[in-house]
Amino acid sequence: MTTPSSEEIRALYQDAMVPTYNFSTPIMVRGEGSRLWDLDGREYLDFTTGISVCSLGHCHPAVSQAIARQASTLMHCSNLFCNLNAPRLAHELSQRGIQGKVFFANSGAEANEGMLKTARLWGSCHGGRHEVIVFQTSFHGRTLATLAATGQPIFRQGMEPDMPGFVTVPYNDLQAVEKAISPRTCAIFLEPVQAEGGVYPATRDFLQGLRRLCDEKGLLLLLDEVQTGMGRTGSFFCFQQYGIRPDAFSTAKALGNGIPLACFQLSRKLAELHKPGLTHGSTFGGNPLATAAGLAVVQAFDQEKVLENVMRQGQALRDGLEAMKARHKAIRDVRGMGLLLGIQLDDALPEATAKCREKGLLTLTAGKGVMRLLPSLKITSQEVQQALEIFDEAIPI
Ligand SMILES: *Cc1c(COP(=O)(O)O)cnc(C)c1O
Repeated sequence: MTTPSSEEIRALYQDAMVPTYNFSTPIMVRGEGSRLWDLDGREYLDFTTGISVCSLGHCHPAVSQAIARQASTLMHCSNLFCNLNAPRLAHELSQRGIQGKVFFANSGAEANEGMLKTARLWGSCHGGRHEVIVFQTSFHGRTLATLAATGQPIFRQGMEPDMPGFVTVPYNDLQAVEKAISPRTCAIFLEPVQAEGGVYPATRDFLQGLRRLCDEKGLLLLLDEVQTGMGRTGSFFCFQQYGIRPDAFSTAKALGNGIPLACFQLSRKLAELHKPGLTHGSTFGGNPLATAAGLAVVQAFDQEKVLENVMRQGQALRDGLEAMKARHKAIRDVRGMGLLLGIQLDDALPEATAKCREKGLLTLTAGKGVMRLLPSLKITSQEVQQALEIFDEAIPI
């Protein structure tokens, strides 16, 4: 079979695909570790990892092998029959999480949606409360409920009426949260680091304050760890660095290292609210193929000292960027946690992004004027140095 040309693919894309994304070159054909190759054979250093999905690097050998083996054994049997992988992965995630119970879904939005349903179930047994406090500049997904929870109204313009039951307040503002609590409130829902919104970590005081508020007022603390989970910020889950425990949290992106896989984890008490065949479900969720990938991902964390590397390389990248800040006026701020970093570039962002790409480095954007970096959690010192050299040339003085 001959490889189609870039022009043929463009024509098919423009004719047959709903234009929710622009047709965007390069067309990628292969990945390995921190590297991607396009249709023309050009190599890129990938600081996007498919938006923090291929966090262990592209085509991680153990994950690819686990998928290949499972693909020729059993791919799917539905949740009407148990499989060998889902309960074992749930156990691993429970041990590394809040020792709770896990529900498997297929995407971040879907995991958040199930967690929000659980919050309503809980609220309806606790005085008929249903309101959830959410935050400006947050991002929780593209379904109707997760869009209503997302503090960026532009994404739901023209799709009104909004799903009711969400109250939006400023992030990192404990007093605003306190003021927004009413007899209808059942939960507070947030990302520990707002990622899409511009890479804003929660302050320690804020997250610990929210935990305290929830305990005092009898509310649930729900965390969206879809992007921050699975080692991205230097601990297995981000909340662990804040010394708090949520009542429930979601994770998705990196859970399957490229296979669609997501989950939410509930405290044991919350999990009891769910009733078989009634309160929630998913056809694909937790199928043997996806959970084989998840198990291989979790094993790689143990065997390959991934978290140590995130701390070491995250610090090296951050130190390099901080040093550059003194030389480049365009760099207004460097922030983030672990290997989820943002460079505030304001007007210089489009030029810097284009120049990085010209020089073979792929980066993301976030919020307003922010370059977002999500390299592989297994990135090497040499790759960090290579990226820093490219930033130095690409970011205006
Ligand atoms: C990506 C993301 C989502 C949505 O995940 P999908 O898999 O695209 O549905 C939700 N919350 C956060 C924090 C995310 O980064």
